[in-house]
Amino acid sequence: MSIIVFTENRGGKLKKSSFEAISYAMNIAENTSKPVVAVSVGELGDDELSALAKYGAAKIVSVNDPAWKSNDSQAYTKLMAEIAEKENADTFIFSHSNEGKAIAPRLAVKLKAGLITNITGVPANFSPLTIKRKTYNGSAFQLMKIKADKAVLTINPNSCDVVEKPVDVNIEKFSPSVAGDGATKVENVDVVTGKILLTEAPIVVSGGRGLKSGDNWGMIEQLGEVLGAGLACSRPVSDEGWRSHEEHVGQTGKIIAPDLYIAVGISGAIQHIGGVSGAKVLVAIDKDKEAPIFKYADYGIIGDAFEVVPRLIESLQKFKA
Ligand SMILES: Cc1cc2nc3c(=O)[nH]c(=O)nc-3n(C[C@H](O)[C@H](O)[C@H](O)COP(=O)(O)OP(=O)(O)OC[C@H]3O[C@@H](n4cnc5c(N)ncnc54)[C@H](O)[C@@H]3O)c2cc1C
Repeated sequence: MSIIVFTENRGGKLKKSSFEAISYAMNIAENTSKPVVAVSVGELGDDELSALAKYGAAKIVSVNDPAWKSNDSQAYTKLMAEIAEKENADTFIFSHSNEGKAIAPRLAVKLKAGLITNITGVPANFSPLTIKRKTYNGSAFQLMKIKADKAVLTINPNSCDVVEKPVDVNIEKFSPSVAGDGATKVENVDVVTGKILLTEAPIVVSGGRGLKSGDNWGMIEQLGEVLGAGLACSRPVSDEGWRSHEEHVGQTGKIIAPDLYIAVGISGAIQHIGGVSGAKVLVAIDKDKEAPIFKYADYGIIGDAFEVVPRLIESLQKFKA
């Protein structure tokens, strides 16, 4: 039996979450003596793919074919099932990303596997596989046990260490028998370039309704720039069209777990916290000392964002100089 990791890439580069997923798989591999096989779909060169071997993936199954540009999760599910049979796999690891969340449950149904999503830690037990996950929108944890013969897992970003375990690699070019597109087809992808990927950013600066208008985002962008941070926002901000939905974090948006999350003018509704509770350090800037966000914050600044943020930028610029 083997462990299959579904890796993700963007712009010809593997995402950091793929290395986390390989490291997670290696933890299971070392405790179960199963080999780890990474699956890559996309136009990635062997040099880029070989980076997976640095973290322990000795075999990479690469599907590098324009027919597989579809991003169709139904087609990807069939592909994973085909590779599962070929590699005699019983454990499947995905990132808890939009892609992972779309494929993992479908694969679990197809293979009659147990599914654990939103995983926040390495297994507590390997037989049966028992793992801690986030539940109730991040306000509680639960231990889940896999009772089926096969397991499908999705790992929260930044919730496990990336550990180097270099091995020799065998890259297999694979031509699947299943079709690369299904009921839907992605015609075109316009990737925003030059921006730090929110789900991978170690520092995130986020703005809420307290900023009053999208026209006031200049200082948030400037704070983001000085910190080398990704930008996020609360849901009303994207609903109002002040910022793109790509930046919306929370229960209905992206789930992130940066090292540092700075919330500016965000009250701290439970639906927002659900997307950021994995942050290692949370800093809140809000003028209302009763704002719920301060219950979750490691550091709080009670004050007007329009005074605090420019002073913070100035101090950081001086500090960096
Ligand atoms: C089913 C469902 C799903 C949802 N999903 C999400 C989600 O995914 N993500 C999400 O974010 N929300 C989500 N929401 C909405 C959520 O309930 C809150 O309404 C929302 O998070 C509030 O956004 P906010 O904090 O920006 O605005 P507000 O709650 O209006 O808070 C604004 C804050 O700014 C402060 N403020 C005002 N002026 C200043 C100033 N000058 N300086 C400093 N501080 C100031 C205020 O004191 C206040 O604390 C969801 C709601 C539902 C019902």
